[in-house]
Amino acid sequence: MQTEQTPVHQDQAPRGPVYPVQATHPMNSSRLLLELMQLGGDRTSAGSFDSVILRSAMRSLMLSLQYRDPGIVHHARRVAALSVGVAEQLGWDGRDLQILEAACLLHDIGKVGIPDIILHKPGRLAPDEAELMGLLYRLAGDVLQACGADSNVVQIVTQSQYHYNGATHDFSVIGSDVHQGARILAVADAYDSLVTSQVFRDARSHDEAMDVLQRGAGSQYDGNVISAMTRWFEFEQIPSELQQARHDQYQLSPEEIIEAGSLSHVFSYLYLLESLYHGFYIASTDGRVQVWNHGCEELIGISHDQIIGQPGLGGHIQYRKQSGQDLGINECPIRLAIETGRTQSSELQVRRADGDWLSVEVQTLPLIDAAGQLQGVAEIFRDASGGREKGHYRDLRLMASRDALTHVANRGELKKRLDLEYNDCKEREFESPFSIIFLDVDHFKKCNDTYGHAAGDEVLISVARLLQHEMYSGELVARYGGEEFVVLCPETPLDDAYQKAERLRKALEKATVVKSDEFKITASFGVSQLEPTDEADDVLQRADKALYVSKHQGRNRTSKITSEQLRKHDPEMVKPSLAKPDEFVCDVVLKACMAADMIVYKLKAFVDGNGAKLGKVNAKSVEMRLGTRGLLSGWGKTADKQPVDIKLEIGDSRTTTQRGANRLVEIHVRITPIGRVRKVDVFKTRCRCVLKDLRQYLAADFDDMSEWG
Ligand code: GH3
Ligand code: MG
Ligand code: MG
Repeated sequence: MQTEQTPVHQDQAPRGPVYPVQATHPMNSSRLLLELMQLGGDRTSAGSFDSVILRSAMRSLMLSLQYRDPGIVHHARRVAALSVGVAEQLGWDGRDLQILEAACLLHDIGKVGIPDIILHKPGRLAPDEAELMGLLYRLAGDVLQACGADSNVVQIVTQSQYHYNGATHDFSVIGSDVHQGARILAVADAYDSLVTSQVFRDARSHDEAMDVLQRGAGSQYDGNVISAMTRWFEFEQIPSELQQARHDQYQLSPEEIIEAGSLSHVFSYLYLLESLYHGFYIASTDGRVQVWNHGCEELIGISHDQIIGQPGLGGHIQYRKQSGQDLGINECPIRLAIETGRTQSSELQVRRADGDWLSVEVQTLPLIDAAGQLQGVAEIFRDASGGREKGHYRDLRLMASRDALTHVANRGELKKRLDLEYNDCKEREFESPFSIIFLDVDHFKKCNDTYGHAAGDEVLISVARLLQHEMYSGELVARYGGEEFVVLCPETPLDDAYQKAERLRKALEKATVVKSDEFKITASFGVSQLEPTDEADDVLQRADKALYVSKHQGRNRTSKITSEQLRKHDPEMVKPSLAKPDEFVCDVVLKACMAADMIVYKLKAFVDGNGAKLGKVNAKSVEMRLGTRGLLSGWGKTADKQPVDIKLEIGDSRTTTQRGANRLVEIHVRITPIGRVRKVDVFKTRCRCVLKDLRQYLAADFDDMSEWG
């Protein structure tokens, strides 16, 4: 069962066809991966291989570290000075020292991609957070490979968190198997952290720090390295570099800020890739692999030194159909991506090094530059054999607080913060209540229909970024679903919140949201303030009603509303009922445009966001229960007390050409009430809310727009 060889041949490079304009704005992913690849510069030019790492790449990476946190740069410089000193004691010289120095300067480069909530979390990390934090070594590996750094640099950085006794890595890499540079870096890194004051821990003295290290000698650290460090400190007294590197300040120029900011998006994207997918690689147009991540090593069973730099993907990537049949010449995703200039999503089997075939979902992305030139190809894998549950759980945890597309807080996180703020306000007897700004992009569906779903996604990302940029007084920006965002403004009276909303509205109106196209969008805003008679959710619902008023009055405007006004105007704002009598079951078909297994992730976000209870779940159907059932059924009161059963049946996916090569999945939704409902209207309204929500989480459309639209 052989498939055809990969078609990324020499003859397709380097002057391939120029792609039509639309293809020059591919999904964000392509652009970011291209940017990553271009860190390595032109690898064919002479002179780039004899250096430890390209000078330009080193500069860019140091800039992005400085941009993320100057403290990391100071730390890195001290660790480098210390490591080089220790290495000299151990007899290192020449190029080896340069390698070690570069590795030390860049050992925390992965932190650029780790979200603030984890990186800057005070105190101890929970185990799942620690696991995500651990991704920083994977990120570092990816980025250093992309830069074409000497493989020793990559090894030193990625192994620096290994324990000397092998305990952290199932004893597969133990003692002197760990690169000596990594063992030196580990000790220097720990020493510097100990003698530097941290947010929640005072600096230890030199003696105390050495004591801590000594206690870890032979287990966590290499005792030999610790002895060398002791010797070095004896001979050198207090090295001047260490003092100096504590105080130097470097101010980034405006150009450098832009450059570093742009690179930090690449890092954030890598963090998503590393946490959500099982593997990815990047190859140039002649099929020379430039990045082969740790996930690919595990998935396909080929190590990066076996494949990096070989032409034609080293013949290592072979696909066949799920059925086991060979792929036709026109079915190879790499060939299709190159020929069409579009991302391909496929469900295939890929051949592992041990000869086994593994079911995978593959996204194949053509990397096309601003001039429309093909520069390379990337493939992103998700294991579809069901054998990697652990990864899935990690993904789900990640999804639990952040919105995967826009990186702002998701609905679950909003709910948490809302409850916190609410309790806080209540405790202080509503002395300085918070306000809520609710906004919804106007005519967003049209934007999707005109420019495509990918452009729509880009708009959402830009909107989220703009909101975050404009809000800087402790507000929480969250994606509520679809094209709806919420800004929670602590200690903000209604009128101030209204002013804020207006400022946002005008900023959005002025902004060009997608750089490449002259895209203009507007949004409608609703504002409300927490009132003493409110429950936490009431204020949110009121803001939503105010938003509805803005839409009603012609969009691109802001409305504010108090509960007093709401009571007066409520009848107008409630949509007329469409209920047919005595029907307490709602059956609807939604159509979502995504890979079938992505639905589970999106649903998980829905479940978290709504505090639903999961019932039976398998690949084809999901059952859940929404709403609390108190002593009384609660039907007719607040929505979160109206309990319903929801059953979703996920149909087979089929390819549609409507939005590129994505898959259209039909989801049959059935909602039934739990407990006695007196009015059909109430049930229908509840169903509409649930459906609206589901639709937004799944980015789905109705099959038929009738009564639930
Ligand atoms: P209005 O001015 O009344 O708000 O009109 P609208 O078109 O913005 O509102 P509507 O709710 O009809 O359409 C929202 C659309 O947003 C439908 C859905 O396909 C799309 N959408 C939801 N989530 C996503 C997403 O994550 N990405 C993209 N590209 N589109 C999404
Ligand atoms: Mg809208
Ligand atoms: Mg909407």
